[in-house]
Amino acid sequence: MKIGILAIQGDFEAHARALEKLGVPFVFVRAPEDLQDVDALILPGGESTTHMKMLAETGLEDAIRKMAASGGAFFGTCAGAILLAREVKGPAQQSLGLIDMTVVRNAYGRQLSSEVLMLPTKLRDEPMEMVFIRAPVIEKTGSGVEVLAEREGKPVLVQQGRVMASTFHPELSSDTSIHERFINMAGSGTRHTKK
Ligand code: GLN
Repeated sequence: MKIGILAIQGDFEAHARALEKLGVPFVFVRAPEDLQDVDALILPGGESTTHMKMLAETGLEDAIRKMAASGGAFFGTCAGAILLAREVKGPAQQSLGLIDMTVVRNAYGRQLSSEVLMLPTKLRDEPMEMVFIRAPVIEKTGSGVEVLAEREGKPVLVQQGRVMASTFHPELSSDTSIHERFINMAGSGTRHTKK
């Protein structure tokens, strides 16, 4: 299985450090040809409007849609989660629509610094550190979306089939359990164009 990290903008280096820590090889994805043979793609935090614009300009948007259609796995954090959402508000913008949820950008207030919370998840018994930076709020999820963690009654970690999204930044915490879950999920599924 080949893992890619979208590396056109934002905090992709932090995801690279998390995968290095797990000893999992990866490639940085900056152009459609970098997605060749990639089975699982991480979409980092950053600025989702800039990201979406650059995805369209580079041709990566089409390449990602093709990868999704052939069963690729995806994990979006913060801005990456916004890119994966079916609907984006605050303001409305284009997205990839790979997970059935509505997100509202910057909806926890206009905090400039990060907020670090310890919150429960379905992944294990102990709470997990979650770093929120100008995070979106997941306002609504479809019935096919599993909610793995919540903050103030709103989902912050979700999964639908082979697509995971978090509104916080697991790549900025030393705990690698969410990346491990993604890698296990991506590795256990099938991408039907691949052997
Ligand atoms: N506020 C950013 C956006 O709406 C996301 C912030 C982040 O990824 N840390 O695109």
